[in-house]
Amino acid sequence: MNTLLIKHAQILVTMDDHRREIPDGGLFIRDGFIEQVEPTAQLPQTADEVLDLTGHIVLPGLINTHHHFYQTLTRVVPAAQNANLFNWLVTLYPIWARMTPEHIRISTQTALSELALSGCTTASDHLYLFPNGSKLDDEIEAAWSIGLRLHASRGSMSLGQSKGGLPPDSVVDSEKTILLDSERLIKTYHDPAPGSMVQIVLAPCSPFSVTGDLMRESAVLARRYGVQLHTHLAETQDEEEFCLAKFGYRPVAYMQSVDWVGDDVWFAHSVHVNSEEIQVYAREHCGVAHCPNSNMRLASGIAPIEEFLKAGVSVGIGVDGSASNDGSHLLAEARQAMLLARLNAGLKGASLSSTGSEIFSVRQALELATRGGAAVLGRTDIGSLEAGKCADFIAFNLNRLDYAGGLHDPVAALLLCQSRGVDYNYVHGRPVVRDGVLLGIDLDEHVRIHNEAAAKLMEG
Ligand SMILES: [Zn+2]
Repeated sequence: MNTLLIKHAQILVTMDDHRREIPDGGLFIRDGFIEQVEPTAQLPQTADEVLDLTGHIVLPGLINTHHHFYQTLTRVVPAAQNANLFNWLVTLYPIWARMTPEHIRISTQTALSELALSGCTTASDHLYLFPNGSKLDDEIEAAWSIGLRLHASRGSMSLGQSKGGLPPDSVVDSEKTILLDSERLIKTYHDPAPGSMVQIVLAPCSPFSVTGDLMRESAVLARRYGVQLHTHLAETQDEEEFCLAKFGYRPVAYMQSVDWVGDDVWFAHSVHVNSEEIQVYAREHCGVAHCPNSNMRLASGIAPIEEFLKAGVSVGIGVDGSASNDGSHLLAEARQAMLLARLNAGLKGASLSSTGSEIFSVRQALELATRGGAAVLGRTDIGSLEAGKCADFIAFNLNRLDYAGGLHDPVAALLLCQSRGVDYNYVHGRPVVRDGVLLGIDLDEHVRIHNEAAAKLMEG
């Protein structure tokens, strides 16, 4: 039995069903799970470990719902800086084809470090090409050193150029290889229990890189083992045209035709959807990973997040791959989600009341990054600070330059001001970041190794 007492948070944001924000709040934690969430005076006064967070705001850890860790090696590639999605992919596929298991390990630690320092406690990743002997195992093993929860998506591509797909044949695999490896990974790593640190997801990459047969077979396999399904969908106009030409369906109808709807499915992006398609998401309980920076970076469009939320669809935030962002700062991504929703409302000519009550708020954006992400990933044990849930929390020192003059509402200051990062990040009651320092690896040395590997990868 191990107990942890968190006390004297200036404000503790629970994100519970009542959205309690507790002044002088605290947590009492036993063996990685929360037992009590109360004002400090009402909590036990001792524990094995005590952390006094006077002057800090405490929140549930943020949840990232879409990423490609390996892309941290190909940020800011000059030829892909000003490209739309298809041109960006065609430029980068040959570089990615040179990756080795070592590249997967290095980039995993880089992305997870950035995520941890920006408030993430649960990260979903989508690895969809496995060149030169790379495996999803390389990512899962490298992730342990950082200490975040990982939803590792076994991605795949099976529709190469010779079959009418977008990727070169050199980076696609046979359906049989993909399905056998998917089953092996589920059996080896997937843990569905409360407090799980690793879950496996099956994630054929996108309609333009995967055959319909692989989509169908992946869904059958995922449902046999009770794991989730994930893919890119309705990201760009080009994808919509591809689906209509190749399959005779718009992207969402294509998903329905291959049995890819249900509460075990979440889609990244979902920018180009109409109102009937939003209703399909709602009726079938599909989730959305909203990636505002990537959608702006690639000029893909603006996802109709407020319409999804009004329809009752679960929406989480994703930083997307680091070659189309080009960062992994999850709190900053939540800020972009808020700003983009406001811009979208303005572009549509929304007339706001004088109270601004209809405007997309800071608290709504934080909700997407916490409760929303948990719902999208199918987790009921994370996303809020409540008795019985995992002790995943983050804390920011409010007496920083970032928030100076903005402490009339510390919760709003987190997103309306430009936050640099967390001071504390705990996952399952264990410290990942303490006093602003990442504990799992020597970051200066790691950045040197990462830059060396990125430079060599570019040289070919
Ligand atoms: Zn993506």
